[in-house]
Amino acid sequence: MRIGHGIDVHRLVSGGPLHLACVEIAHPAHLEGHSDGDVAVHAIADALLSAGGVGDLGTFFPASDEQLRGISGREILQRTALELTRRGVEILDAECTIVCDSPHLAGHTAAMTDAIANALGISPDSIRIKPRHAEGLGFAGKGEGIVATSVVLVKRS
Ligand code: MG
Repeated sequence: MRIGHGIDVHRLVSGGPLHLACVEIAHPAHLEGHSDGDVAVHAIADALLSAGGVGDLGTFFPASDEQLRGISGREILQRTALELTRRGVEILDAECTIVCDSPHLAGHTAAMTDAIANALGISPDSIRIKPRHAEGLGFAGKGEGIVATSVVLVKRS
């Protein structure tokens, strides 16, 4: 068994919709990035690639790769799960904490959980998405960006 920890930060820029944890949310800003900026997915994939012995998100999905421009969170998770399966690594459990004050995410966590579980090909019972407020503090509290962290558990054969 191996644990993995991942973290990611993306800047919020003007214009929606917001792609977060494989869910599209109506919001006046979106996350900037080489990909669709899905900071929650990036934290989870980073943790999974680390636990699976693949490296990290930046080495498996390099920002210099033009083929990856605009890649969706769903595709990142699908490719990550495929690589882990190829290496005999089973995803047992994953959780992700997303820190922002706006938008409010409580009404979206069920859809996020289902979408992430579906992309990874595992049960939603093995996924938890936890929104946290930043209390108006720092970039997350001021709506300048969103930060996400993730802890996962995998089994290597
Ligand atoms: Mg990222």
